[in-house]
Amino acid sequence: MPCEVAARFLILYGSQRGQAQSIAEEICEQAAEHGFTADINCLSNQDKYNVDREIRPVVFVVSTTGDGDPPDTAQKFVRKIKNKSLPHDHLSHLRYALLALGDTNYANFCNGGKTIDRRLQQLGGKHFYATGHADDGTGLEVVVDPWIEGLWDALKKTFSNMSASNQQEAARSDCTQDNNHKNASGQEKNKSDLEVDFHLLKLSEIDSENGKTVTSDSSDAETRSTTLVASLKKSLPPLSECVLNVPALPPSYLEVVLEQASTEGEAVPSGKDGYCEVPISKAVKLTQDDAVKSAILLELDISEQDVAYQPGDSFEIRCPNRASEVEELLLRLDLQMQKNFAVQVTLLKNSSKKAAKVPLHFPQNGSLQFILTWCLEIRSIPKKAFVRALADFTQSSSEKRRLLELCSKQGSADYNSFIRDTNICVLDLLQAFPSCLPPLSLLFEHLPKLQPRAYSAASSSLQHPGKVHFVFNVVEVPACSEHPARTGLCTGWLVDHVSSILQPLGTVPASECLGTSALPKVHVRPRPSSTFHLPSDPSVPVVMVGPGTGVAPFIGFLQQREKEHETNQEAIFGETWLFFGCRHKDKDFLFREELERFVHNGTLSHLIVCFSRDEPDAAGTVNRPTYVQHNLLLHAKNVAGILLKDKGCLYVCGDAKNMAKDVNDTLLEIIGNELQLDKLDAMKIVAGLREEKRYLQDIWS
Ligand code: NAP
Repeated sequence: MPCEVAARFLILYGSQRGQAQSIAEEICEQAAEHGFTADINCLSNQDKYNVDREIRPVVFVVSTTGDGDPPDTAQKFVRKIKNKSLPHDHLSHLRYALLALGDTNYANFCNGGKTIDRRLQQLGGKHFYATGHADDGTGLEVVVDPWIEGLWDALKKTFSNMSASNQQEAARSDCTQDNNHKNASGQEKNKSDLEVDFHLLKLSEIDSENGKTVTSDSSDAETRSTTLVASLKKSLPPLSECVLNVPALPPSYLEVVLEQASTEGEAVPSGKDGYCEVPISKAVKLTQDDAVKSAILLELDISEQDVAYQPGDSFEIRCPNRASEVEELLLRLDLQMQKNFAVQVTLLKNSSKKAAKVPLHFPQNGSLQFILTWCLEIRSIPKKAFVRALADFTQSSSEKRRLLELCSKQGSADYNSFIRDTNICVLDLLQAFPSCLPPLSLLFEHLPKLQPRAYSAASSSLQHPGKVHFVFNVVEVPACSEHPARTGLCTGWLVDHVSSILQPLGTVPASECLGTSALPKVHVRPRPSSTFHLPSDPSVPVVMVGPGTGVAPFIGFLQQREKEHETNQEAIFGETWLFFGCRHKDKDFLFREELERFVHNGTLSHLIVCFSRDEPDAAGTVNRPTYVQHNLLLHAKNVAGILLKDKGCLYVCGDAKNMAKDVNDTLLEIIGNELQLDKLDAMKIVAGLREEKRYLQDIWS
């Protein structure tokens, strides 16, 4: 008789910002439904697991950070498995599957997961299921959902193989009667557990769980509408008529209690986590009123702080949620009267959520209004698990059906069109589905931490001692049927916040006369870059590519070089090239005067500019360069010479989605042409430049 093989597996996650963790937790929650028991651990908790001796199948979920690095929480694990003294069969016992998360807008897609996968293979580990590579650029769920769906069958097969080999082993090793008894019951349990298939739920089945009978609610006027256009609130056949395959209901794990005690009354966060509160000493609009986007330069006074930075570093800014949106949310949740109550967040007793913890971003005794303003990203796009959970707090059967459709496998396209692509947030959902009234704890469980926003320093402290500049475009989120046009959370807040000191383009800032106490303030902390800095040897030539606000760090670089020129006239300085692009010469040519000064005094050897939307000049130049990469091609010989012969550096800053990719393609073309190489060989040269830190990107999506 066979020995028992428990259908138990291990999930290990390496997460930077919580995405990999929440996917790992989702797998863990779904496991029970499919007849498995899962244990879950963060890769950083090395005392809680040991892959060197792990006989259970292991599922890794690993994100990517920085320049294609594994997340900080996985670093120790990576160091451990990379130990060169490990024999090549060190992990030959290991059966694993790996889900890698990344973003194709950045170089080294999914490299965090790929690094671990590669090394596990080298050490003899075996896949029991193909590795998944999920792209945050197009929506993680596009890969994650089907990958998880396929995981259960793969696990089922793995366990049955393990069971079969154990049977052979058992036959050989002559198991005892006692063992036989145990194994028989174990095997029976496995069978019934593993035969659970994806639960195809009909609406009536879902609601019978709650003791209510619900069908597609023919009495609901909205559902009967004959409009043949689907929307957030309405679906069309076949989706409106089909049987739904919905994600498992995530177990609740937080208890939130509101106490009518006086709170610490924090209106803004205190200086924790390395943040300091600094005055904004200047705010200048850099674009004309009729420019396509409004760019604004801020100057922060950091003279009272112990903060040092180099050009190329960034600063993180804490921004609050919009006061009006917090108010609306409180109103919608019927909690307006309790907004100043102190909030106690604890773990729910008897929660079935594995490894549940109270997230660290909830302050002790903070008021409800404070938490909704500073701690939770209320503008975040609700994940499918959140939509699923909201459905359970929705009275109207037609609204509930629609929410279930939106989180179902069959409704994936609707989720993308009506939630993800239109930037719907929880408040929009609650407005669209008025019978949904979730408890506060549900929002606390599902809304992510409000993250700070990073901006590149656009100054050098040699030129502006005690100050740091940065520049941003006011982001516009287009209107859709569920919400009006909005400004981006941080850039919209900043522009309102500095309205009292904002100077129009070309004026001498009067704010310098204002006393510090009258100036608006922000909470910032430096985020140093490990690589995006000028070469320490000033004779190394540099090529900078920064269209739009992507020019920010290069203004810092050039201010630094200008000062170095002044103070060290003997030094040899390499050539400096800047490729800049904007839409119109007279509307959004950022830092025009400063750039021309750099050219005039020799700090900048070549300023190459293009205007993407200006009419061709009177001479009607044909094939006028539109984008920075067109100018790079026109100067291909110089660019190739700097990179290939003079060992110079190429810096690219700006939009990750289109510009950085196109510039990368152009670089391949330039190098391919120059060295007469095919694309693959040119890619190897470019990869080499990246490795040598001579091709550096600071790109944003
Ligand atoms: P942008 O939208 O990138 O536009 C700047 C110029 O680039 C325009 O002339 C635009 O032309 C052109 N462009 C459009 N597609 C292009 C492509 N595929 N290749 C090359 N050029 C292209 O400028 P922005 O609005 O200032 O945005 C810059 C980006 O940099 C943003 O993603 C921002 O987040 C990021 N960034 C910001 C900071 C910061 O500290 N604020 C720092 C670094 C980077 P058309 O519009 O006419 O097509």
